[in-house]
Amino acid sequence: MDSNSGTELEAVIVFADGRIDRQLQYPEFEAVMDGFVPMQEFAGCRAQAVYVRINAHLRITTCVFFYVDFDPKGLIVKRWNVPFQQLANAASRGPDLGAGPIALACYSQCPIAWQKNNLWDPIMEPGRNSFVLMKKAVANNTLGLIFPEPDPEPEGLNTGGMATELAASELKAALEREYAQAMRTRLAHTLKEQRLHINTVRSRMNLKIDELKRDHQERIAEYQQALETQSQNISRLENDNTQLQQQLAMQESRLNGLREYYQHKLNSAQLDEASQVRELEAEFDKRLETALNEAREELQERLDMREIELYYRQQQEAAVREELELLRTEHENLLEQGATQIMTPLQKAGISFVVFAPGVGQTTLPAASVAEYVANPEAYIAKLCGLTEHHYRLWLDHSKSPYCTANNSDGEECGVGVTRVPQPSDFHDGESNRCAEHRSIKSTLSLQRG
Ligand SMILES: [Zn+2]
Repeated sequence: MDSNSGTELEAVIVFADGRIDRQLQYPEFEAVMDGFVPMQEFAGCRAQAVYVRINAHLRITTCVFFYVDFDPKGLIVKRWNVPFQQLANAASRGPDLGAGPIALACYSQCPIAWQKNNLWDPIMEPGRNSFVLMKKAVANNTLGLIFPEPDPEPEGLNTGGMATELAASELKAALEREYAQAMRTRLAHTLKEQRLHINTVRSRMNLKIDELKRDHQERIAEYQQALETQSQNISRLENDNTQLQQQLAMQESRLNGLREYYQHKLNSAQLDEASQVRELEAEFDKRLETALNEAREELQERLDMREIELYYRQQQEAAVREELELLRTEHENLLEQGATQIMTPLQKAGISFVVFAPGVGQTTLPAASVAEYVANPEAYIAKLCGLTEHHYRLWLDHSKSPYCTANNSDGEECGVGVTRVPQPSDFHDGESNRCAEHRSIKSTLSLQRG
C-alpha cells in the first residue's frame, strides 16, 4: 500500500472555528514563517494549522495538527518553533484518506512528548470532521499543486493473466486470502481510527477535567484568600476595637482628671470670688462711709456757716427793724409836729379841711387827723364808716364798676351788671356783687348747707 509514495508536495491548511480558512503551499507558509508576509486576520491569535503531505493523486499521506501563534501585527511570534516536519517523519499511523493510513501527529498522538502542548486534536464529529474537510479540499486541488511527473494510475492486479494453468480452487483460495487480508487490513484501520477517536475524546475530556480541576483549585484558592482576608479583617477589627476601647478608657480617665481639676478650680474660684466680693463689699462700705462722713462734715460746716450767717442776718435785720421803727416814729412825730405846726395856725385862722370820699360824701378833717388821712385815706374813711379797710375797698371796687365778680364754671369772672349799692355799710360781699343767677346758686348752696 505504500508503493505509490512517489513525489509528494507539502502544504499547510489553516482552520478557524472548525472550518478550513486558508490553504497555503509550503513555500507560501515559509514566507509567512520568515516574516515576509503577515496574516492580518490572525493578529494576536493562536491559529490551528495542519501540515500535510500530498501525493500526485491528490491524496493526503501525512498530517501534523499544530498551533501557530501570531503577534499583534499578524506575524508569527519569534519564539514559536514547532518542528512539524520532524513530527511528521516520526508520526504513527492514522486513518486512511485514500492512499492508505496516513502518518498522523496530533495532541493525543504525539511522537515527541514535550511537543504535545503545541499540537491539537482533529475534530472527529460528523459534518465537521477535519479529515473529511481536508480530504475534499485536497482532492479539489484548490491549492493549485502541480506535480512534475504525473504518476501513471496503479496498474491494479496484473497477475490475473498468468493463472490460467492454476486450478480454479487455487484461484479461489488466493482470492479468499486476498479478501481476508483486505478485510483484516480494513478492520485494523477502522480499529485504529476508532482508537484515535477515543484517544482524542479522552484527551479532550482530560483537558476539560484538568480545566475544571484548575478552575476548582482557583476557586478554592479564591475562597481561601477571601476567608483569609475576612479573618484578617476580623482580627484587624478586633485589634482596632481593643485599641479604641483602650483609647476610650484613657480618654475617660483623662476626662475624669480634667473634671476633678476643673471642679477643684471652680471651688477655689468660688472661694476666691466670695472672699473678693466680701473684700470689695467691705472696701465699698468703707469708702461709702468715708464719702458720707466727708459729705456730712462738709454739709455740717456749710450748715454751721449758714447758721452763723443767719444769726448775723437776724441780728442785722433786728437792728434794721429797730432803726426803721425808730425812723417811722421819728417820721410820724415829725409829720405830726409839722402838721400841727402848720395846721394849728390854719385852724386858728378859721380854715377847715374838707375831703370828699366815696360813700361818705364831704367830711371835715380835724387838723390832728390830717397826717393819718394822708398816710392812708381808705383806711381813715373805713374807720370813719365803722368798717374794715378790706370791706371798704371791696365796696369801692363795686361802686366804681358794679358787676358780678363770681367765677363761672370755666374759671372766668361772670361780668354781668348788678345794681350799685350807694352806701358802703349796705354792701355785703358775695351778695351785692352777684348777678341774680349767681346769687340764687349761692342761696341754694347756703340753703343746702343749712
Ligand atoms: Zn354773675
